[in-house]
Amino acid sequence: RSNIVSVAPFLTKLQRDSATPLPVLRYVADAMTTDMRAGLATDGGSDLKMILSYVDCLPSGNEKGLFYALDLGGTNFRVLRVQLGGKQERVIATEFEQVSIPQELMFGTSEELFDFIASGLANFAKKEGGKFHLPHGRIREIGFTFSFPVKQTSIDSGILIKWTKGFAVSGSAGRDVVACLNEAMERQGLDMRVSALVNDTVGTLAGARYWDDDVMVAVILGTGTNACYVERIDAIPKLRGPESFSGRTIVNTEWGAFSNGIPLTEYDRDMDAASINPGEQIFEKTISGMYLGEIARRVLLKMAEVGDIFGKSVPEKLSTPSALRTPDLCAMQQDNSDDLQSVGSILYNVVGAESSLSARKIVVEASDAIVKRGGHLAGAGIVGILQKMEEDSSGLIFGKRTVVAMDGGLYEHYPQYRRYLKEAVTELLGLEISKNIVIEHSKDGSGIGAALLAATNSKYD
Ligand code: ADP
Repeated sequence: RSNIVSVAPFLTKLQRDSATPLPVLRYVADAMTTDMRAGLATDGGSDLKMILSYVDCLPSGNEKGLFYALDLGGTNFRVLRVQLGGKQERVIATEFEQVSIPQELMFGTSEELFDFIASGLANFAKKEGGKFHLPHGRIREIGFTFSFPVKQTSIDSGILIKWTKGFAVSGSAGRDVVACLNEAMERQGLDMRVSALVNDTVGTLAGARYWDDDVMVAVILGTGTNACYVERIDAIPKLRGPESFSGRTIVNTEWGAFSNGIPLTEYDRDMDAASINPGEQIFEKTISGMYLGEIARRVLLKMAEVGDIFGKSVPEKLSTPSALRTPDLCAMQQDNSDDLQSVGSILYNVVGAESSLSARKIVVEASDAIVKRGGHLAGAGIVGILQKMEEDSSGLIFGKRTVVAMDGGLYEHYPQYRRYLKEAVTELLGLEISKNIVIEHSKDGSGIGAALLAATNSKYD
């Protein structure tokens, strides 16, 4: 049915254009290191924004008391409370609730959105009881995870640069988002206070660090991607401000904007041109969950149009942007059967394509090429961060146990991606050094992480 001979050259070209042999990975890792340095030197000096978190004190395990976290980063917001019992008792209890944000509020005014969030928080706080208690005379403190671009100005303030992810809220760009929330809480008569404004990656690092002092880097690989790490204050030339007590802080790299040396295919270029942010977030577009499926769809569409991989006609659904998603690629790659039965049914169910066995094999190989590049580049990015830290403080990373805390649906659910990521790290660092680099999934670190940062930045200490 399908003319596989005519398709094979497309697969070969895809594999060649997206190849990530060791020299390419080394170049990417080194470029990541260089771009990090440039971003630390001056604002706007690099693709990497290297945003300061103003976190001075990392969680140690000694934190005690009741703290709240509020997480706003998409179409839901989450509220959480945690009772911390110090080194011995650790996390005594947690509770959380998730509230979905009505569509109209995403296009409304800033007051409307923050009033809605404050009232959700008030409802949740009302139900506090049982194992949770606040000492007399104290106000409830919140760690606020806000996953939109913010120029942080202190641990508890930050200016919203712009809304993203489909939000178009009027009247808050250029404003301090903590002030927006505080004012809304006041309007609700809710006596709570934000003690820490936290990026989600920073929250993940803090949450993982609470359990393990060797955590130095956190990476999110979900719909999008980002990474942060523990940096020395004296290695941040652009930092001017209050004295630091610990001499260290967390830097949010915003590495999704990295672009140096990434091997791109015609499909990447077309996808980028059709995106809402052409020319931006190139690293993110090659490694994160929102895009891998879409790149594969574009490859298959080309193979159907020019090479009739799925027979004489092009399946109609294959022309719909985002029709094939990353979880579909992942599901297809789990098929180990000889006849690739489930690959066939996924292709049929998702894009309406009838496929021969040889067509299915090509689909799996094309998917693998895309996922391999993604995992490899993510791994090279991690090595870029680790080698930057090691260059500045010899012996800090290499030769001792170092943990990279990973979170996000892509990393969590895609075994081949995880394998490629670790493969790149091992190839770049060598067996001896990479043995001590622990790359591990940190489950919902970011929620508790924000509450922990409220604790380490408590107004009462
Ligand atoms: P977000 O990044 O949106 O906050 P998640 O961390 O849960 O949320 O990541 C969701 C993303 O993870 C999805 O967009 C998808 O790309 C990816 N993902 C989810 N499930 C799977 C899966 N089974 N296989 C591969 N990727 C997945």
